[in-house]
Amino acid sequence: MSDRSENDSAQAVSGGRVQAIQAVRGVKDVLPDESPAWQRLERICRDFFARYGFGEVRVPVFEVTQLFARSIGEATDIVEKEMYTFEDRNGQMLSLRPEGTAGVIRAYIQSGLQRESLTRLYYLGPMFRHERPQAGRLRQFHQIGAEALGSESPALDAEVLVLTADLFDSLGLLDGLSLEINSIGCPACRPRYTAALKGFLAGVAEHLCENCGRRKETNPLRVLDCKVESCRTHTTAAPEIIDHLCEGCSAHFSQVRTHLSAAGVAYAVNPRMVRGLDYYTRTAFEWTSSDLGAQSTVAAGGRYDRLVERLGGQSKPGIGFALGVERLLLLMDETREDPPHLFCALVGDEAEVAMVPVLRQVRNAGIRVDRAFEGSLKSQMKRAGKSGAAFCLIVGGDELARGQAILRDMAKRDQREIPLAGLADAVCEIVKAADA
Ligand code: ATP
Ligand code: MG
Repeated sequence: MSDRSENDSAQAVSGGRVQAIQAVRGVKDVLPDESPAWQRLERICRDFFARYGFGEVRVPVFEVTQLFARSIGEATDIVEKEMYTFEDRNGQMLSLRPEGTAGVIRAYIQSGLQRESLTRLYYLGPMFRHERPQAGRLRQFHQIGAEALGSESPALDAEVLVLTADLFDSLGLLDGLSLEINSIGCPACRPRYTAALKGFLAGVAEHLCENCGRRKETNPLRVLDCKVESCRTHTTAAPEIIDHLCEGCSAHFSQVRTHLSAAGVAYAVNPRMVRGLDYYTRTAFEWTSSDLGAQSTVAAGGRYDRLVERLGGQSKPGIGFALGVERLLLLMDETREDPPHLFCALVGDEAEVAMVPVLRQVRNAGIRVDRAFEGSLKSQMKRAGKSGAAFCLIVGGDELARGQAILRDMAKRDQREIPLAGLADAVCEIVKAADA
């Protein structure tokens, strides 16, 4: 045994009791009282994606670090400061995915899907960023995202935006959210804008935070996205990309807006919105809520016409977005959709054995059945009361002898006898009818 592990085990049993290990800071368990909300959100998203022709792709949670550096960009907060990067036992540099798009595009290229004319993919799962944990900002968080690849039509941008609007509507959130859009140009027009912006930033350099002091050279657009107050106030007069778009980008943006208006989706143009990832071109968008404090963005995305190429694929334009699951759940009302619920109080071995096929049949009919495995009838009834079950089925030696079971309506505090013959069918009928 090495010194280290001896130490660990000595510490672990100090005080006679093994010390419980805590979860890593900034990550959360989702417990059974919270998971129904997760499932509901996931189910509604899957349903929407299916209607719009998106198929699910499940990609690994780790990839070679190079993939993220090349797609997200070397000079971004994510790659510079937030990734969980490690060397594996073969000396290969790997990173836990900080976002979903890079892995999805890698899979799209590697699988040959890129040969299809239009591909729509969606994904969901955990992402990892080493950020300062706070409400709505975690180190392991979850995204649900979608990518539509193969067309640069502004109609596709609008379709993706309409999808998000209708999705939020079905989640009951649309009224509290606002959509902001912008165009961040393309490699033809952005350099001209970047030059103008650099010139402006040089003039206000003394007011910028340390981070932006560096970024004004390496990644000037990101300065507009800085959350530091003095950076914000001193860049209000910065030149806007919208005034520097080339003809193609300008026409594209105007078409996106026409389509959005035709769909009746409300939006505002925010010329300062630039997004934090390098791979975006043209349309960029964010959905924000005013109820989430500083962590106000619940979904973000945009077009990335050069990304597939940049990752070694054919030249294929694309657009995508990701929803922040934890932030959305903070906004959603709790709605439970539990199955009808029966508790079973069984007293004695004989009753337990006799009820085995009955409980099985009732569960297979879609009813939740809880039971106690020990205790007197009284203590089992107490548990039945706490369980929240609408009904309690009671069977002991006396009932078996009479060929009857007792079904108690917990709310009405009223019970009836049901013959053991045909018991499962009768119970299912009553419990389901009361639940309807
Ligand atoms: P922010 O500006 O809040 O840091 P971002 O621009 O880094 O967000 P994206 O990379 O666009 O975020 O990710 C899309 C969405 O994922 C965000 O709008 C947000 O809802 C969610 N998200 C991003 N980072 C976190 C995190 N650390 N914890 C929880 N949710 C997150
Ligand atoms: Mg961030």
